[in-house]
Amino acid sequence: MPSYDFRCNSCGRRFALFYKSYKDYEAATPACPHCHSLQVARRITRVAIARPSLNLANLSSDEMLSVLDGGNPREIGTLFQQVGESAGVDMDETYRDATRRLLKGESLESVERDLEGEANSSPADE
Ligand SMILES: [Zn+2]
Repeated sequence: MPSYDFRCNSCGRRFALFYKSYKDYEAATPACPHCHSLQVARRITRVAIARPSLNLANLSSDEMLSVLDGGNPREIGTLFQQVGESAGVDMDETYRDATRRLLKGESLESVERDLEGEANSSPADE
């Protein structure tokens, strides 16, 4: 079960909450179990992306989510790259392009928007 670390902005205590899935986590309103404050901040579990020996493809799905959640395009790009390489398949141009753009620091939102556009658009675009 994925657990998410939080820090309460009211009483300063740290705590973890468990959700059945990332969807549940997204839908939930986390509250501090100590003082019941809703002023809580998600503490992103820092995954040591910089460690060259770390194969990101071996991360648990929760750890991958924490990378995505962290919103650092370069970390996400690195994740994409390693997952793509370890899958042992030829990454298609779209995937490689998305990875390159993330590594350059472009936001995931902007890259995702283009990916969705590409998947949905017909060859005769407009
Ligand atoms: Zn609290």
